[in-house]
Amino acid sequence: MKTITEQKPLAEILELLKDHKKIYITGCGTCATTCHTGGKAEVLAMKKELEAAGKEVTGWMVIPTSCDILTKYAIMDSIEQINKADAILAMSCGLGIQTVAAFSNKPVYPALNTLFIGWEEHPGHFIEICSQCGDCAIGITTGICPVTRCAKGMLSGPCGGAKDGKCEQKPEHDCAWVLIYNRLKELNMLDKLKEIPAPKNYSKAKIPRQVDIVQ
Ligand code: SF4
Ligand code: SF4
Repeated sequence: MKTITEQKPLAEILELLKDHKKIYITGCGTCATTCHTGGKAEVLAMKKELEAAGKEVTGWMVIPTSCDILTKYAIMDSIEQINKADAILAMSCGLGIQTVAAFSNKPVYPALNTLFIGWEEHPGHFIEICSQCGDCAIGITTGICPVTRCAKGMLSGPCGGAKDGKCEQKPEHDCAWVLIYNRLKELNMLDKLKEIPAPKNYSKAKIPRQVDIVQ
């Protein structure tokens, strides 16, 4: 899984931190490092920016995987420097930020916007692949998500507006249903297109969601 993030504008970050002088910065060694939004280089660049804006950075670390429960121990290891700070600036996805907050007793502020779960299609270019709808419909297409990759979330075939294989809503994207058609053709499974999918359970997307796994 890769969570795609972007950095907030510095002015917004400084506004969030306006009541605090001493800041501790956390980054994330997994998704945010891949996205170049919260790896070591970005954390050090942020430290420089904050210092230039008159803040004191009491310390920083790149947590291996911010959203992981082991973040608790990373925070315990750095507790001295964290305790010297008034607040933490977290450079990770929303899950990572909330995990840092869960294990610290300081106000935690986001340096990043969490965008979506996706792939790096080519260096520096990310596309959304799954929007975690809670009722996976990939069985209809044998491997390509119609909910996320089709701009209209069409479940039973194309809208008819595609041009040259591109989506009418987002011409920079391939039409999901052209991709689906080509995939089914390659697999010799075009008959699948004749099937009428069961209605999708959109109530599964109601938030906040929870699940109990019987052990
Ligand atoms: S159908 Fe839903 S769960 Fe399955 S890949 Fe698409 S968005 Fe994700
Ligand atoms: S052109 Fe294709 S991807 Fe775009 S909305 Fe229509 S079916 Fe979906």
